[in-house]
Amino acid sequence: MDGNVHPGIAGLTAYKPGKPVDELTRELGITDVIKLASNENPRGPGPLVSRALEEQVRSVSRYPDGNGFKLKQALARHLAVAEGQITLGNGSNDVLDLAARIALTPGSQAVVAEHAFVVYRLATISCGGELIEVPARDYGADLTGFLAAITENTTIVFLANPNNPTGTWVTQSELEEFLDALPSRIWVVLDEAYAEYVEAKDYPDGIALLQRYPNLIVTRTFSKIHGLAAVRMGYSVSTLEFADLMNRARQPFNVSSFALAAAEAALADQEFVATSRTLNREGMQTLIDGLAALGLGSIPSVGNFVCVEVPGPGIPVYEALLAEGVIVRPIAEYGLPNHLRVTVGLPAENDRFLDTLARVLQVPLQGQPRA
Ligand code: PMP
Repeated sequence: MDGNVHPGIAGLTAYKPGKPVDELTRELGITDVIKLASNENPRGPGPLVSRALEEQVRSVSRYPDGNGFKLKQALARHLAVAEGQITLGNGSNDVLDLAARIALTPGSQAVVAEHAFVVYRLATISCGGELIEVPARDYGADLTGFLAAITENTTIVFLANPNNPTGTWVTQSELEEFLDALPSRIWVVLDEAYAEYVEAKDYPDGIALLQRYPNLIVTRTFSKIHGLAAVRMGYSVSTLEFADLMNRARQPFNVSSFALAAAEAALADQEFVATSRTLNREGMQTLIDGLAALGLGSIPSVGNFVCVEVPGPGIPVYEALLAEGVIVRPIAEYGLPNHLRVTVGLPAENDRFLDTLARVLQVPLQGQPRA
């Protein structure tokens, strides 16, 4: 791999997804597996989605609507924005990547927080950009630090609100103060993949801020609360001008007809969203209480996942949980070697995780003292 390879890409580490259930079954022969590793909706999709998907089978020989007209119309109505402000993507990863490609050229810099979602790094480096990581404050984004890190070469900031994997969030006043102080030539990608879960009173609505801050690009997804991770559908809301640039740079049919139809059905089912939010709130409380009862601390999170600090390195605990059929996410790559990220599951899954963790921490783990 000597010549003709983009040096940044040659140096990248590929994204490591949560372990699929089938893989664990294949490897260890365990069939009774629960996956709390990828921040998916544990309920599956809403009841309207499967019918919408089935209807698409008949048109599978045709290209999808490359402009996603109907879904954009529904989203525009739902979000009170213009259709032209919306860019659809093959998951929100796709729109994050598009934003990076528009804002970054070799030599320019992207500013992110320590422990930030790793796709910002992948997107930045793939464009030949330089990633500036600002040390975290209480595991979250330190926006004062962001401002200090800005140089004349900075063209874009990626900020997940809340962040994955930490679940930390920035408040309305913190965000406004930051946007007021930031030079308006710098694009701000505000990644709101988990926005629909958040119930904190001081949590800002990025889309409402767009009118005041035209350098904002807000991204959201159907992968999380809407339960559509497999069909891949995400979107951004930005100014018309930025959306026009995204539209020029995207692939012609970047979202499938299945994703368009499923998302439209999911968006129409706000009851499902509300009940998922309630289930998450209750499950989060179960997890936090259960972890505290085990003497374990966790990072306060407003998402559908929480990071627990285990005694010693997280990997042996992760592996011991795997052996019991419980998949969570080690996050050493995010600079958090003693934490594991756990997605809020169904009540029975949360209980099983807590029981299994309690059992696993009773026995000596490879390479670390008894908890
Ligand atoms: N942003 C954040 C903060 C995420 O956690 C994720 C999913 N892990 C994404 C974006 C991308 O999700 P998707 O591409 O499925 O929309």
